[in-house]
Amino acid sequence: MINSSLKQLGQQLARKQVSSVELTQAYLQRVTQLNPAINAFITLDEEKTLAQAKAADARIAAGDFGPLTGIPLAQKDIFCAKGWRTTCSSKMLEKFIAPYDAHVISQFDAAGAVNLGKTNMDEFAMGSSNETSYFGGVKNPWDFDRVPGGSSGGSAAAVAARLCAAATGTDTGGSIRQPASLCGFTGLKPTYGLVSRYGMIAFASSLDQAGPMAKSAEDCALMLNVMAGFDERDSTSVNREKEDYTRGLAAMTGEQPLKGLRIGLPKEYFAEGLSAEVARVIETAIAEYKKLGAVIVDISLPNNNLSIPVYYVLAPAEASSNLSRYDGVRYGHRAAEYNDLQEMYMKSRAEGFGAEVKRRILIGTYVLSAGYYDAYYLKAQQIRRLIAQDFVEAFKQCDVIMGPAAPSTAFKAGEKTSDPVAMYLEDLYTIAVNLAGLPGMSVPAGFTPSADGKPLPVGLQIIGNYFDEARMLDVGHAYQQVTDWHTQMPAALENI
Ligand code: GLN
Repeated sequence: MINSSLKQLGQQLARKQVSSVELTQAYLQRVTQLNPAINAFITLDEEKTLAQAKAADARIAAGDFGPLTGIPLAQKDIFCAKGWRTTCSSKMLEKFIAPYDAHVISQFDAAGAVNLGKTNMDEFAMGSSNETSYFGGVKNPWDFDRVPGGSSGGSAAAVAARLCAAATGTDTGGSIRQPASLCGFTGLKPTYGLVSRYGMIAFASSLDQAGPMAKSAEDCALMLNVMAGFDERDSTSVNREKEDYTRGLAAMTGEQPLKGLRIGLPKEYFAEGLSAEVARVIETAIAEYKKLGAVIVDISLPNNNLSIPVYYVLAPAEASSNLSRYDGVRYGHRAAEYNDLQEMYMKSRAEGFGAEVKRRILIGTYVLSAGYYDAYYLKAQQIRRLIAQDFVEAFKQCDVIMGPAAPSTAFKAGEKTSDPVAMYLEDLYTIAVNLAGLPGMSVPAGFTPSADGKPLPVGLQIIGNYFDEARMLDVGHAYQQVTDWHTQMPAALENI
């Protein structure tokens, strides 16, 4: 069961070979067994979860169901879910019970999916290792000494350890793709505006985007079918016709299903900063794509090296504004003792936020201040345009872009916590995609052994043109028809 695809689970439910309650109980049992060691989930509510499973069974019995009805999914704790504690892994929201559902949550509810629980993450989604969480780090299921990546680290570990059938994540600078690479599963960050941000706790609003984290491209397509769609409550939600993201998958068989597909390889993605072992895995994956009929085009994204500095001006600027709402007045943490209003604000924020969040608020406030706005914020916006333009030029020559999703495999917990810049470099190949608003995904492409011989996953990144998710999923699926990296799971957890 634990390695079944969403499609297989859906079929078993439809044929009544298993009930949603049985399936949900099986996952809950696995969570009870493994979560104390992995720390992927921070909030579980068995009663609510099982009530949803029962309701799903009733829908199935009545013949009123879709592909995800009755399937237990893990939700990143950045999504407000009515009646559920929703913390964003911050002390600031430790006791916050969401009074309403995020769009993503209500879409899954309407589809009849079961909310298995809320997953750990970096505090306010700021991080690349899940080590900034108020609730502690998450273990990478492939090697418990290593990080799962971040910020969607809890969802990542939950998918990799098969603690859920699939999960949601959000990606502001790489938080779906980088953990997908480090934990060995398929994750997709959609085009900006495709999935509504309503009820998704804001970090950097012009970059944040929710997406699926699952075993395969096919599973991601089924999830995206539910998540995508216009929502008037998000002013940047794009009003376009609904698509079926599974529509092309069946054709991805036979000799050369990708015949003529032009894959652009940016020379900047294979330069300094990329580990030699990761490079080898990616090259092997590209060779596989050639066998599937694709042709390779050498391209350049000349401004990619500016994407991290630009992001670390713009994202903190937006964060400093978004996080100003946590003032201890309406909701969130409030200091116990204070003498006046000013001190209440200061102490509540000093106590409620962790070090990385404070660092971002300080940077953001600085770059937006009157004296520095032109030199930093405005300049960064101009360079953001150039970075986006690089992709416009690139997509004149190719259909998809490929490269690594992360510069290295999973690193040891604590290895980069004292060096923020080393941590920021984790997103060298992902951030530009967010700055341009493009879709990107990571698919498992192989393993490299750690020094002590543990296999560590490597993800291949596929970047598509705006709203080209269906094609990207086809491209990922075609590869998953001829490789089995995506079906592998950590050996130690296989028999549990
Ligand atoms: N690692 C990046 C950061 O720390 C991106 C995080 C994200 O995508 N949420 O901001």
